[in-house]
Amino acid sequence: MQEASLEDQRKAIRQYAADNNFSLVREFCDDAISGKTAEDRPSFQSVVDFARTNKNEPYTLLVYDVTRFGRFENPKEATYWEVELEKNNMSVHYVTEGFNNDGSLGSYITKVVKDAEASEYIKKLSKTTSRGIRSAAERGYWTRALAPYGYSRAVVEPSTNSIEHVLKKDEANAIKGKRIKLVRGSETEIEILREIFHMYADREQGLSSITNYLNHNHIPTPSGKGHWHKAGVRNILRNQTYLGMTVLYEGSGDEVVVEGTHERLIDESTFNRAQRRLHEASFATRGGYTTQYLLTALLECGHCGYTLHGAGVKNGKLYYKCNGYSNRGKEVCHSPIYPAELLETPVIENIEEQISSANWPSIVQQSIDLVIGRSSREHSSKTQEAQQQYEKNKRRVENLLASIADGVPRKTAIHAIQRIEREQEDLEKILRNADTETHARSTYEHQARFLTELPQNWTTYLAQATPQEEKRLVRFFLQKATVNYAPPNITYNFYSTPCIDRKNTEPPITQIKKKLKLRRK
Ligand SMILES: [Zn+2]
Repeated sequence: MQEASLEDQRKAIRQYAADNNFSLVREFCDDAISGKTAEDRPSFQSVVDFARTNKNEPYTLLVYDVTRFGRFENPKEATYWEVELEKNNMSVHYVTEGFNNDGSLGSYITKVVKDAEASEYIKKLSKTTSRGIRSAAERGYWTRALAPYGYSRAVVEPSTNSIEHVLKKDEANAIKGKRIKLVRGSETEIEILREIFHMYADREQGLSSITNYLNHNHIPTPSGKGHWHKAGVRNILRNQTYLGMTVLYEGSGDEVVVEGTHERLIDESTFNRAQRRLHEASFATRGGYTTQYLLTALLECGHCGYTLHGAGVKNGKLYYKCNGYSNRGKEVCHSPIYPAELLETPVIENIEEQISSANWPSIVQQSIDLVIGRSSREHSSKTQEAQQQYEKNKRRVENLLASIADGVPRKTAIHAIQRIEREQEDLEKILRNADTETHARSTYEHQARFLTELPQNWTTYLAQATPQEEKRLVRFFLQKATVNYAPPNITYNFYSTPCIDRKNTEPPITQIKKKLKLRRK
């Protein structure tokens, strides 16, 4: 496209002014094309200043074409400034229409603006923005569509925090300007809820038996439809909402926990007993922590590659056995059994040796450095930038919303907000990751403290640690071990420094091979 000369532009603008009865009061001219942001363009800045200082009188800015107003790398900057001018009582007219339908900013704005409907968007803004949800939760409001079994949702007037009315099960949450709080639900549901907890926590009934009981007695499900399922019962048992607290983004590292947001329906000790059972049950199905076998999931059979599993007690001793043989039979592997003590003792001895090293604390520090890495400093500066941009955008949105009240065309403002909101979502992702990183780091530091203090606490630890704790300990030191039956030996892959985060970074491995004295069955 041919660039119009400055003089041509001036002529066109004067013509337009004459045709439309505008009297020209001032000319702003940016001859340089280099300015990519408003701040880089002194003349553009004086337009803004002019509008701001004369906001009590309406002015119109005549611009040759949209590219003259734009010249922003980021199209939403143009929209932003346009709105900013409108807010200050200055409207923008484009003198030539050469920008229509050519994919330029002007046509882009027109296109997008059509889609936006102000009221709807603002409603959505408070409903879907995760920050909005977060801050609502932090103020103790319920942000999800359904109330947990035993609760109802009540509409609250936020200014007084008074309950206005209770919503029906399938009624929508969104009521403009109002908030939702959880309140005590139907007494029948509460009774059943407590029965479910009681059966699981105190009567040691399993999930299946509870599910059967509920279906057998035709107890309506939380949704009122269909049958009860184990997963649903489990979700009820796990739900911390029953403790009177609101928990959001659980396990994301970006958790929101607010206590006392509503009435507690289950007492803490019953709830904790249920959690303990759930925890045990889930580990048991994974062959995990509750068994006494220290090396579960870390032992591999050198003959068939399967893992070994605890094979029970013989003559008062625990044994491991190859899963290849147990699951697939003699075709796959032999059936040797390995005394647990024989395989486990060298591991404990190795740990003891490592932690009694004089520079153990600095070894632990090395391990922490390894997982956190050098990237963390770069990371934190990026996070800071994102945070600043995020706050800046927030203020922009506030200004834009305020500008609607000041009479700026809604569509223009809404469009600008939508653009900013999209950017905000990306920034939120960055910030959430940063939170996760911070969370991970505090976990690392916690582990580091545990490991550093381990030498002093070693004897007490050995005497008091639960099997679960011991297994966790072993995983800091042992990557895996491979056992062979013929010839009988075991190779341990020990970490050269404690492994803080297996999934993330593993320290170098030191292999130690030992002969085994197996007694024939
Ligand atoms: Zn095997």
